[in-house]
Amino acid sequence: MPIVEKSLVTVDRSERLEIEGIDVSGDWNTFLRSRVQTDLDVRIVDWIRSQPQGDTISRCWQCGTCTAGCCLHTDYGLSEFNPRYFIYLAQVGYEEELRKYATTIWRCVSCNKCVERCPKGVKVEEVIHTIGSYLEFTGGAPESPADRFDRAYTENLLRRGVLDEASLFRTYERMEGRTMPAGEMLKMGFQLFRSGRLRTGPLAHRTRGWRRFGNVLREKLKEDERCRRASLSAAGGTGGHSP
Ligand code: SF4
Ligand code: SF4
Repeated sequence: MPIVEKSLVTVDRSERLEIEGIDVSGDWNTFLRSRVQTDLDVRIVDWIRSQPQGDTISRCWQCGTCTAGCCLHTDYGLSEFNPRYFIYLAQVGYEEELRKYATTIWRCVSCNKCVERCPKGVKVEEVIHTIGSYLEFTGGAPESPADRFDRAYTENLLRRGVLDEASLFRTYERMEGRTMPAGEMLKMGFQLFRSGRLRTGPLAHRTRGWRRFGNVLREKLKEDERCRRASLSAAGGTGGHSP
């Protein structure tokens, strides 16, 4: 019977060989990797379920409706972005495989089509973000451009309570080590000016009473972070990674 699942086949050596006019070329030392996974860690799903946005993960029955309707998977052809599969890997605790998607998982654009379509009421978008957070907090997930943009966006917003778009753009360009060509920069500056959003730096708008409210928000963000880390520790350092 032919082996169709190529990922399970390991070829140690391929050779072209002819002996006494007979072609005996082939793959040598070919063997199959084990299909049995023994290092599954069900504490991952326990942790995700214990989070406010991950509590519906256990309802998933793997029908695949979310993936079939996901704009990234279907419209944009990002086949590796598969919400059903992310949920499956988290449910069974296959951390090694899940970590391969630590960056991809954050490409979700939060359109919530998956949530609308899920027949089991899984809050798919929230669940996969919680899975992403798990991977981020337990280490090993490299910071993606989307992560960096989120960080720049949050810091920018926390400064005055209103987004300073020009400053956000400059910060993000710096983070990515990019410089926009002068012509494009001028064009964008003009568009920002026309839309009244070129007030930047000290001239940028500010939300009234922001100092007090901003401090409360900062504390809340820190508290959320502490809670997440504490719950990961309580889950026993799942996957052997320290939070
Ligand atoms: S649509 Fe809902 S039940 Fe079906 S795979 Fe997606 S999350 Fe699971
Ligand atoms: S919210 Fe995310 S996972 Fe759901 S359909 Fe939209 S892009 Fe896909």
